[in-house]
Amino acid sequence: MGSALRVLVVGAGPTGLTAAIELARRGIEVKLVEQRAGGSGLSRAVGLQPASLALLQPSGAARRILSEAIAFQSVAVHREHELLANIAFPAGGAMLHGLAQDRTEYHLRATLESCGGELLYGHKLTALRQMSGRVVAALQPADNDQAINEEFDYLIGADGVKSTVRDLLALDFKGFELAQPWSIADIDCSGWDTSAFRIYLRDGGRIVVVAPMEANRVRVVSNTDNALEVLPVPVDVVDIRRQSSFPIAIRQVANYRVGRVFLAGDAAHCHSPVGGRGMNLGIADAADLAARLSVGQGDGYHRARHAAGRQVIAESERTRKILMSRHWPVRRLVETAFRAVGRYDFLQRRAISGILGRQ
Ligand SMILES: Cc1cc2nc3c(=O)[nH]c(=O)nc-3n(C[C@H](O)[C@H](O)[C@H](O)COP(=O)(O)OP(=O)(O)OC[C@H]3O[C@@H](n4cnc5c(N)ncnc54)[C@H](O)[C@@H]3O)c2cc1C
Repeated sequence: MGSALRVLVVGAGPTGLTAAIELARRGIEVKLVEQRAGGSGLSRAVGLQPASLALLQPSGAARRILSEAIAFQSVAVHREHELLANIAFPAGGAMLHGLAQDRTEYHLRATLESCGGELLYGHKLTALRQMSGRVVAALQPADNDQAINEEFDYLIGADGVKSTVRDLLALDFKGFELAQPWSIADIDCSGWDTSAFRIYLRDGGRIVVVAPMEANRVRVVSNTDNALEVLPVPVDVVDIRRQSSFPIAIRQVANYRVGRVFLAGDAAHCHSPVGGRGMNLGIADAADLAARLSVGQGDGYHRARHAAGRQVIAESERTRKILMSRHWPVRRLVETAFRAVGRYDFLQRRAISGILGRQ
């Protein structure tokens, strides 16, 4: 079933790729532009929640991703060396999956190609204007000084935290930045148990998370300036692929829609990696928006997705503040709570539904 609609998606991260797939598979003419020259090599998000995989299932993207992703058997929470709780996913039930973001994007690109969507690398959106029910976008090819103007029915800004689309719409990205940057290390290692996603709570409100991405590749993230140094257990490092620090901002735009232009993913919201929700939230934004636009109706998108984003940000912030509290009574309470979760089935079930999340 074809359609006369033309949609421009700006940014080929997980949000933009999902939006383009979901439009293309419904027969909508979609153009996805990305300023980078090719696919990103950055791993960033690891955790894929069941709701994201369900949204990516009709296009076949979930099947491709699952052919490579790791299924975590549990989330293990440690206090220094002590295991406080091993929150195990029930066999045959929903699980958390892990895959480096560059590989997730690889599978999304392959899916988009199979749906007949157009992805143009080396093209940057530099300007837009809305007139007579159309959006005119200026697209600047990397090898040309001259931007090309093209008309579309709708434009989706999935262009990340430094969104050009958001700037061109003069929308405020209200929020704040944490004083302490976080650090990340992607390492190849041997002998690490990849069946669990591990969280280590350390003195002084420090936290270290180890997320397996492949058989012998893990991501270590910490709210300190050296994630590997603060890991309380030895790891047999074969190669450090990447080690860096990054600032954490907690922000959300007040309006996800201006006329025929929409914001989705990190362009609309960002928060700390606690809870691993950023990419999953972007995928859900994209799927919701594509379903609405495919019937020529963007109404309701802002209201639904702004509320979902606000809730995820609030939950993520609440958890971050509790897990990283420096106050010993709070820390004792957290430890006692995790020990109870480790012991009682009904608390495990509640913890599991929190980890697997809604979007
Ligand atoms: C260290 C780290 C760990 C994380 N871990 C997790 C996790 O475990 N789980 C999770 O869900 N999330 C996680 N996240 C968050 C996740 O990576 C982001 O939420 C996700 O990448 C957002 O996807 P996006 O497509 O909205 O934006 P992006 O991935 O940032 O993609 C935006 C794209 O737009 C392009 N672009 C920008 N401007 C233009 C323009 N003018 N023209 C054309 N193209 C443009 C950019 O080049 C980029 O490719 C993590 C983030 C970090 C930094």
